[in-house]
Amino acid sequence: MDFSKIRLFLFDMDGTLYLGNDLFPFTKPMLDEIKRQGKTYLFMTNNSSKSVNDYVKKLDRLGIPAVYDDFITSSQATADYLMANHPGLRFYVCGTESFKTELRHAGVIVCDTYSEDIEGIVMGYDTELTYQKLDDVSKLLTLKDIPYIAANPDFVCPTEYGYVPDCGSVCGMIYNATGKNPHYIGKPRPEMPLTAMARISKKDPLVCKDTTLVVGDRVYTDIACGVHAGIHSLLVLSGESTMEDVEKSDVKPEFIMRDCSELLEKIK
Ligand SMILES: [Mg+2]
Repeated sequence: MDFSKIRLFLFDMDGTLYLGNDLFPFTKPMLDEIKRQGKTYLFMTNNSSKSVNDYVKKLDRLGIPAVYDDFITSSQATADYLMANHPGLRFYVCGTESFKTELRHAGVIVCDTYSEDIEGIVMGYDTELTYQKLDDVSKLLTLKDIPYIAANPDFVCPTEYGYVPDCGSVCGMIYNATGKNPHYIGKPRPEMPLTAMARISKKDPLVCKDTTLVVGDRVYTDIACGVHAGIHSLLVLSGESTMEDVEKSDVKPEFIMRDCSELLEKIK
């Protein structure tokens, strides 16, 4: 494929642009080159606990200047999905305050406490989780048949010492109590790339499925969301997935590279 036709690059972050707190040396030159050519890149994340501002600060520490609009997050995609599919409903939100702020900012009606007139439930990666919230969600799902949406399906989130339970694990607890599973939004679902394309095509009419590329280090999330969205996909081997994972996976990346330095060579 001719990589010079790509207009919108969707980058996973950890394992693709940096590893933990170490920026890869080719990341800044690659992002600069994309900008220089008048094309667009977005940073894509499933994490629905942090606000975009937390990521802006993290990238800034690594030497990558970024602003709010440089991101596509599962929180933003969830807000888009709610506004498109369930406009005007009153949602009980089990998530962090920054997640709720993001949803409100997009126009979603967010309720903090249980009440009988709640019309839907949204789950995020809730690092401020309480038992009261689990009780509220279980009660609502048991008593009512209402839309039930979750920002991201990840079971765990990596930390410096290992893993902690993420949104998908909490939804597993709710499933054990109620027998109900949510409609998930983040990777591997296609909503984030589709939300990104809809947003960027307003300023760049050349952005379409054939000119959009997702770049990531995980086959079962990054590559899968690209395949499900019908866009181009590039797996880099600088993070989690290995060639063995690719062989075992049902979902196959369109392209595989050692790291993004090869992509930089292809777009120059
Ligand atoms: Mg990654």
